[in-house]
Amino acid sequence: MKILIVGSGGREHALAWKLRQSPLVDELFIAPGNGGTALEGTNVPIAEDDLPAIVAFAREHSIDLVVPGPELPLVLGIKDSLAAAGIACFGPNAFSAQLEGSKAFAKHIMREAGVPTADFGVFDDFYEARDYVLRHGAPIVVKADGLAAGKGVVVARTTEEAIEALDDIMVKKIYGSAGAHVVVEAALAGEEASFLALVDGETIVPLPSAQDHKAVGEGDTGPNTGGMGAYSPAPVLPADRWDEMTELVIRPIVRTLAAKDTPFCGVLYAGLMMTADGPYVLEYNVRFGDPECQPLLMRLDGDLAAIMMAAATGRLDSVPVTYNPRTALGVVIAAQGYPGSYDSGMEISGIEEAEADGAKVFQAGTSLKDGKTVSRGGRVLCVTALGDTLAQAQQKAYAAADRVRMEKSYYRRDIGNKGLSRA
Ligand code: ATP
Repeated sequence: MKILIVGSGGREHALAWKLRQSPLVDELFIAPGNGGTALEGTNVPIAEDDLPAIVAFAREHSIDLVVPGPELPLVLGIKDSLAAAGIACFGPNAFSAQLEGSKAFAKHIMREAGVPTADFGVFDDFYEARDYVLRHGAPIVVKADGLAAGKGVVVARTTEEAIEALDDIMVKKIYGSAGAHVVVEAALAGEEASFLALVDGETIVPLPSAQDHKAVGEGDTGPNTGGMGAYSPAPVLPADRWDEMTELVIRPIVRTLAAKDTPFCGVLYAGLMMTADGPYVLEYNVRFGDPECQPLLMRLDGDLAAIMMAAATGRLDSVPVTYNPRTALGVVIAAQGYPGSYDSGMEISGIEEAEADGAKVFQAGTSLKDGKTVSRGGRVLCVTALGDTLAQAQQKAYAAADRVRMEKSYYRRDIGNKGLSRA
């Protein structure tokens, strides 16, 4: 089988690493990839949003399966373009990808499907949105409708803060057309968890729970990032609740989309708030999370290529999906200053030493320069390790991360502590 992965983050390195282990895979390409994916397959200099070039490459190289890592190509319709060329794709079509591409779409589908989610209003008029905020009071959450790289959400503690966010998004248009509509919703309190499932249009295979750490600082302080670390399973969502979660937040969406003749294929990811009144969905993503993907794939025992091809062709019930019962934990090493401004081009060493005891260093913002691995982004590496317990996985991941050397780097020291406090 020939596979083309689209994307360039730590998630894509983990996908490449796991797919490479499949005896079914003859050739693996990554567009555009990074310093880590170059070790697993062949990087191809095509941007993740250049759909015509991706389809042309897939045709020329007789690719059997395309695996888009990030949301952008999915929202742009990569699945539809590949389908027209007769090439299988592990991911949803453009209609279903709106679950992530439009927060208003997601809220309407949730309401239609009966999925628990915060009360909300959708607005394209600033004054109507402001009236809604004033009527409902704070705390209240303002979200730009479209993709804004995880930055388009403001959890406002006061009505003034909420109105300022509306002004930024709707009047100043700081996210451009992504802010043409806003969702304003009730603020929920609780611990967050991620629940992901593989879907082939109909069959659903739940994946083990995971917990991300979005804030840049320890104790969940400071601005939100793409994610500073993750572990799986997450004690906040134990295995005896996965069936209930599947029925509550995954199956209703899969059924609703199938009934609209746009069956969902790929990974459906529910971002949950575990409130005192039960789980509520904050958002859906239509792909693996980064960095949740890294610990999840470290635990996967099954053949990822067989699983993804089966999901892309409506045969998910024909392949075993089994997981190592151990815990995996990943720590993101970032450039100092991220998610604000930061330096690039820092040399990275110590990866071999870090991997000596079984940890895996997934690369994200890296590239190879004159035979050396150098940083090229905010989130640079995700050092991931397996342990018999969460405590052991944490200890091993940090022991490995401490062996990596990179100037002007930073990582949180408390990934996994929330889970440990539940033990
Ligand atoms: P991501 O970067 O995860 O894709 P996003 O920009 O798509 O994020 P959301 O996941 O909807 O946006 O929100 C981002 C964060 O804002 C959530 O992880 C959560 O911490 C917070 N948040 C969102 N909605 C609510 C809510 N209703 N109540 C409280 N906090 C919320």
